[in-house]
Amino acid sequence: MSVRYRRQEIIKGFDQNKLKKAHVAVLGSGGLGSAALYYLAAAGVGKISFYDADKVEESNLNRQILHFSSDIGRYKVDSALSKLKDLNPEIEIEGYSIKIDSESIKEIGKPDIIVDALDNFKTRFILNDYAVKNRVPFLHAAVESLEGRLSFVVPFETPCLRCIYKALPPRREIPVLGATAGILGTMEAIEVIKFLTGIGNTLKGRMAIFNFKTWDVRIIYMERDPHCDICGMPR
Ligand SMILES: [Zn+2]
Repeated sequence: MSVRYRRQEIIKGFDQNKLKKAHVAVLGSGGLGSAALYYLAAAGVGKISFYDADKVEESNLNRQILHFSSDIGRYKVDSALSKLKDLNPEIEIEGYSIKIDSESIKEIGKPDIIVDALDNFKTRFILNDYAVKNRVPFLHAAVESLEGRLSFVVPFETPCLRCIYKALPPRREIPVLGATAGILGTMEAIEVIKFLTGIGNTLKGRMAIFNFKTWDVRIIYMERDPHCDICGMPR
């Protein structure tokens, strides 16, 4: 048992080796991605690839805790890599400054699981369509203000994002309290670690919806849409 991972290796049923062998891709290193990447790296996921084309701006710093004031103007992948490699030098971690579109998403290949740490639904749909086509499971999370939602998508087993969201919401500046993004990003990391190590029950086919202002918490069960353009057709 390693010193670094001892406190998680003593969790009943926890297999560190499964994490070590895994490859996780994270799309985005902003509010959701900062928390998810910190915890996935700290937990010892063997290989992490993450993608973000942006540079650090001052307006990111209320929530994107991988990036510090001294990082303003740096590429986010460089800023994030310096912290994550220092946090855990034992893992393989690569950051790619690539803007995700329907072509460039092919660069992510076939990881064991993908984390949606994106900030818009247009790119989420690109991730969804790629993940379904290539049968890669992924965590979906989205935040607004003091609210957040989380779901685990397994292609052809659970609803995909196109089964759930029928229209693309208009792009706008979304209000976000940093801690809300941090909680949801952390929950994505928990689900990834559970999936990879086989402990517990994941949020497959369900969506957890949190309102941290009122503590109204709902977990809804969802059905696949048999007419879904992406996952409804026989293929
Ligand atoms: Zn679908």
